[in-house]
Amino acid sequence: MQRITVLGATGSIGVSTLDVIARHPQRYAVHALSAHSRVEELAAQCERFRPARAVVGSAAAADRLAALLRAAGVKTEVAWGEQALCDIASAAEVDSVMAAIVGAAGLAPTLAAARAGKKILLANKEALVMSGQLFMDAVHESGAVLLPIDSEHNAIFQSMPQFGGNLPAVRDPAAGVAKILLTASGGPFLTRDVATLDAVTPEQACKHPNWSMGRKISVDSATMMNKGLEVIEAHWLFGAPADQIEVVIHPQSVIHSMVSYVDGSVLAQLGNPDMRTPIAHALAYPERIASGVAPLDLTQVATLQFQKPDFDRFPCLALAFAALRAGGTAPALLNAANEVAVQAFLDLKIGFRQIDRVIAHVVDTLPHGDAHSIDAVMAQDAAARAAAEAYIARVTK
Ligand code: NAD
Ligand code: MG
Repeated sequence: MQRITVLGATGSIGVSTLDVIARHPQRYAVHALSAHSRVEELAAQCERFRPARAVVGSAAAADRLAALLRAAGVKTEVAWGEQALCDIASAAEVDSVMAAIVGAAGLAPTLAAARAGKKILLANKEALVMSGQLFMDAVHESGAVLLPIDSEHNAIFQSMPQFGGNLPAVRDPAAGVAKILLTASGGPFLTRDVATLDAVTPEQACKHPNWSMGRKISVDSATMMNKGLEVIEAHWLFGAPADQIEVVIHPQSVIHSMVSYVDGSVLAQLGNPDMRTPIAHALAYPERIASGVAPLDLTQVATLQFQKPDFDRFPCLALAFAALRAGGTAPALLNAANEVAVQAFLDLKIGFRQIDRVIAHVVDTLPHGDAHSIDAVMAQDAAARAAAEAYIARVTK
């Protein structure tokens, strides 16, 4: 029996995770669940999965959750705040942690799971982007097992079977990896006239052609910052330098990424675009379990297309490559500025094309530091948020 904590249980990834877990009650038990504010949904999940603990974002939310659970006769213990999240991520009773909180808020609990040597199912890419070296060091020091949930990184992992589950050092010539080919759908605005992009609404940006996801990552997919963050994520997970990572637009989202080897072989992982596949893969690794995903019918898909990304249409992708090459805290600045800009776009404060301008402004004007400690990273994160807010206030006045 594997005992699991799901951080971000009420989100898109959290719900898909519980769907897979529910299909295999003899293999998995839920130790703890977390949600930020959606208390009713979390209460229903507690009723169904009977976790020992549940964590929410505020004292008021904790009171509401406790009342709902009492009324339903559920004995789950309720807590709130960052320390409680770190506790359920590192508790001795826990084997695996699904890290599916969105954004920088997920960093502390994900790092706590890494330091405690857990099996980490990593969906929260922002944590790795902000503090890649520190996070990977924590994983190596504690002997934690890191399994990528992001569909591209899960596909890359599956396309490197020779490493037996140890995240490979692509830099090692013996690995024979020529390139990581990170596929991207191109999002909802792949072919839209660039001149009209400033007029798009959050609803249009969140309407992804192939995937159903949370709002922040949906906007990131529309700007292709999501792919930029994934380039940085691939760098840390697989030890790949920026030059060894290539983004390929593949609008059908059937090939989830590829690895090109020096002998000319290209290995890929294919499947219908449904996150339950990478979730089931990581939950059961190295075994395989059913996920509920329909089998892929290639005759139905019929055509697979590929094209090079257009960096003028998607400036966020170029900004992310530049931040990776700059190193240090540049990716943390990029990530924080992006979180603020995306929220401002969702709140109708700025237009779609202003998102990349906010990020460029922050990365260009703030000094880049050394990402040698979490305190240093968090200080840069805070400085970037303040600079992004100030810039937005200036341009929207
Ligand atoms: P979502 O918005 O649907 O869910 C986010 C979850 O995080 C919710 O449970 C919410 O309660 C919690 N949360 C939000 N703010 C919080 C805070 N300040 N403190 C604590 N908890 C908080 O997001 P999602 O689409 O499920 O994405 C989750 C993570 O997985 C993101 O990092 C995203 O990049 C990554 N990811 C998602 C997908 C996908 O298909 N949805 C694919 C790949 C990677
Ligand atoms: Mg992805």
